[in-house]
Amino acid sequence: MWRSESLAWRDRSIEASIEHVWQGGTAHKERAMARQGKEAEELDWDSLGFGLTPAGSMFKATCGEDGEWRSEGVVPWGALQVSPAAQAINYGQAIFEGMKAFRTVSGSVVLFRPGENARRMARGAQRMSMPPVPEGLFLEGVKAAVKANADHCPPEGKGSLYVRPLQLGTGEVLGVAPAPEYTFLVYCSPVSGYFKQASPLELVVEEAFSRAAPGGTGGHKVAGNYSPPLLAQMRARRDNYNDAIFLDCCTGSYIEEANSCNIFAVQEGGAKVVTPPVGSTVLPGITRDSLIQLAKKQGISVEERPLPVHEFLTSLEAFTSGTAVQVSPIGGVTYQGARHAFHSSSTALSLAASLRGIQSGREPDELGWLVPVH
Ligand SMILES: *Cc1c(COP(=O)(O)O)cnc(C)c1O
Repeated sequence: MWRSESLAWRDRSIEASIEHVWQGGTAHKERAMARQGKEAEELDWDSLGFGLTPAGSMFKATCGEDGEWRSEGVVPWGALQVSPAAQAINYGQAIFEGMKAFRTVSGSVVLFRPGENARRMARGAQRMSMPPVPEGLFLEGVKAAVKANADHCPPEGKGSLYVRPLQLGTGEVLGVAPAPEYTFLVYCSPVSGYFKQASPLELVVEEAFSRAAPGGTGGHKVAGNYSPPLLAQMRARRDNYNDAIFLDCCTGSYIEEANSCNIFAVQEGGAKVVTPPVGSTVLPGITRDSLIQLAKKQGISVEERPLPVHEFLTSLEAFTSGTAVQVSPIGGVTYQGARHAFHSSSTALSLAASLRGIQSGREPDELGWLVPVH
């Protein structure tokens, strides 16, 4: 009884939240202009943002009904030819990965923990009834794409080469069923910072919309997870926040994550960090896992447990983590109309420096996280 009433309340509040927030924007025009791969000489390393600047080529492999993957190797960047009845564009068999290749201080190009991305994508494939891309093929594809486009990897300090593996059900279906054919692609784009404004971030807690539900697909990079939160994200941006934070969908009282990054709270004067546990509602971020390991190495205790929103808001410090955002300190979070400020960012900055130190080759890679490609 209580449950259905509370859900009805939630539905009303969601109705009230659906308002027109789409205002067009230049990002679409920018993307429309990016249909052709760019020559490396045309790139201006100082004006990169997180927009698409496709590198000239991509890796491609396909898998037919026999379940065997066939590599086509590196092919020019360009449009795919798919049937209007392709499973992915009708029913959403589509998963992706996000990783970065970095240029180190010695000039070599390295990938950061790519085996973790391979395993995460394979778990996502299983959840979506798709044949997993074997780890060997995934690594071959990622290395081949990065090697072929290494001239698009910015100099150290100017950004990185964002690498986007993608697996799509490209075979045709009419009724809902797994696709008879799949395509695995890896394309690349040089990028710099994700958020336009410099940190610290201003975030707002989303109270009407949910991102993920227990037993659902929120713990995987399933393409369909990322557009439902856009309504909350665009409203947040319109209201001058950088992003929205989602709560658990069952009780609305625990912090989970943002649309594409994990969240940490720092407590006890920097002696402890707390982050929500991964599972079907919190994505197992590789940056998150790396920061947990680095924090432990620095003698910080780490708790992975549900994080009540009120406890989060009264923490000393808070930050987000992800491949795209790296480590970004949070300056303030607005919840139920009230802004809670975080006055410290020293733990985030110190963990960010450790991570950057390893990725740039300035600090020794003691944990064996870097994989050279060039
Ligand atoms: C990709 C992603 C993250 C961050 O994962 P990383 O492996 O650190 O990039 C966090 N949350 C969501 C929902 C994501 O899609």
